[in-house]
Amino acid sequence: MDNRFQVRLNVCKSGKCANLGVADAPDYVWPVFRLGYPALGCGKCGSLPPLFNEAECNDWFAQLFARHLGLTGQGCPRGCMARLIRYGANRSGSPRLQCTACGLAFTPLRVNLAAQARREQLFAALAAGRHHADITAYRVLNQAAVWCESQFSDAEHPVSRIATQVFTLPFQGLRRQQRLYVIVSADADSGRVVQISTNYSPWPVGDSLRYPSDSQALAEPRDVPLVERVRATEQHFLARSQFDAIRYGSAALKRNDSGAMVRPVIALHGHFQRLKRRFAAVTDHYLAHECVLRGAAITAWAPEVKAGSTHLWFVVEEGESDAGALWHPGGSWRLGWWNNHWQLWENATARKMVARLTGNSQDYPPQRITLQSCAAFIQWLERHPWRRISGQLNARVISQQLACLAWCYNYVSVSL
Ligand SMILES: [Zn+2]
Ligand SMILES: [Zn+2]
Repeated sequence: MDNRFQVRLNVCKSGKCANLGVADAPDYVWPVFRLGYPALGCGKCGSLPPLFNEAECNDWFAQLFARHLGLTGQGCPRGCMARLIRYGANRSGSPRLQCTACGLAFTPLRVNLAAQARREQLFAALAAGRHHADITAYRVLNQAAVWCESQFSDAEHPVSRIATQVFTLPFQGLRRQQRLYVIVSADADSGRVVQISTNYSPWPVGDSLRYPSDSQALAEPRDVPLVERVRATEQHFLARSQFDAIRYGSAALKRNDSGAMVRPVIALHGHFQRLKRRFAAVTDHYLAHECVLRGAAITAWAPEVKAGSTHLWFVVEEGESDAGALWHPGGSWRLGWWNNHWQLWENATARKMVARLTGNSQDYPPQRITLQSCAAFIQWLERHPWRRISGQLNARVISQQLACLAWCYNYVSVSL
């Protein structure tokens, strides 16, 4: 592969380090086994991020970009960080686009009227919690998912503040109740879902990317007071075999499935690399408290974080805040392996712990730092009739249906 198009994951991921996001820095040492796994040793800050097999990752990214950027017309199929321009039409009249960085001309998926009608039927079935399992239905779903993704953003709705949350859903694999890892990002201003991904990969992947399918979930702290929950989550990261080895439960695919389940860390890097190519101008990322989320976001936005134009935050919330309620500080703590500075904020009906992960901790209105846009979608999904059948569907179908459901959510539930 031409290495101009590679994503470099073996970089320092420390917010304040001069090597943040820098590939092949002269003071890197690898592999370093000091923490019990192969790591990249950063000579500047001493951090030890786990090493990736970059060649296998890039084979996977190439497929991801071709499908989710090229086919949807949202970016260069090779993953360039560049503008697209119109480039005429092909013989059958489909508009073509060209990447201004690499010059590649390509044709996004075109949707005709017949496909539109079938898509409407599909949405109606989803809304009623029905799924048709035949070849035509799968083709319609495939096209509808690409179309829905292409509608997640447009030039009229620029996105500058993004909230990202993760959750799991059951799917029908080798056994019942296997778990799929889902990542959802929403525009913190409009509430629209801007991207949803899972750790199901429809194409085969290299061994280093695979999720061990019979993994037991490491118990995560719940139902404990907020400060204790943050502390316990930090302990939970330390209990992993390496920081990015998320174990969220069993995820064995059926034997005839040609795809693969990837490690959540791979899905997260794919998610943020894709987001970066769609919304380069994001100023704020509000992240659920998961160290791998931070690592994937900061790797994708490293130049902007260094320049001070993009900031990352962890947020843990409980209760629902009334709009306009005043937040009062409830204390601050330095917590966990990374010694992040956490602040507690409270009002009459809600509390949250917030940690600024980049830049200086200056005054920033706490009401703005929230995962509420993601939480609203996840609650909507939990109550959706589709949830009655989703546990009987395979991971590929669920992944595509989630794109359709997110579009329906934006269309129906979020006022613009
Ligand atoms: Zn460093
Ligand atoms: Zn390109």
